[in-house]
Amino acid sequence: MNTIAIAPETVSPCQACGACCSYSSNWPRFTTEDEAELDLIPEKFVNDRLSGMRCEGDRCSALTGTVGDHTACGIYAIRPEVCRTCLPGDPECAMARRRHGLPVLEITEES
Ligand code: SF4
Ligand code: SF4
Repeated sequence: MNTIAIAPETVSPCQACGACCSYSSNWPRFTTEDEAELDLIPEKFVNDRLSGMRCEGDRCSALTGTVGDHTACGIYAIRPEVCRTCLPGDPECAMARRRHGLPVLEITEES
């Protein structure tokens, strides 16, 4: 399998990825957020059903940059819970990266 090993102390690989933010319009949905938390998210980034992030195709509208090169979340500090649960090296991360033709990440243990 095509993988890249990253040490835990490495700068987040997410900044050169963004694959999970461009995986499916159903993914960045709202789950456990309360009204006050959702109110912080600018309306332009919220979908018409108010059920999650607005997407263009599979890509979240809050994502800037180029997937696999350099990306950032425009609402990082207030991003939905599901966005916080996808972590580099986990199965969802691997699925998203494969979709975008990026090598799967493997987090190496500290020695
Ligand atoms: S797919 Fe993985 S590495 Fe890429 S942004 Fe999501 S969590 Fe980070
Ligand atoms: S809100 Fe941010 S972290 Fe969540 S999918 Fe959109 S760009 Fe990615």
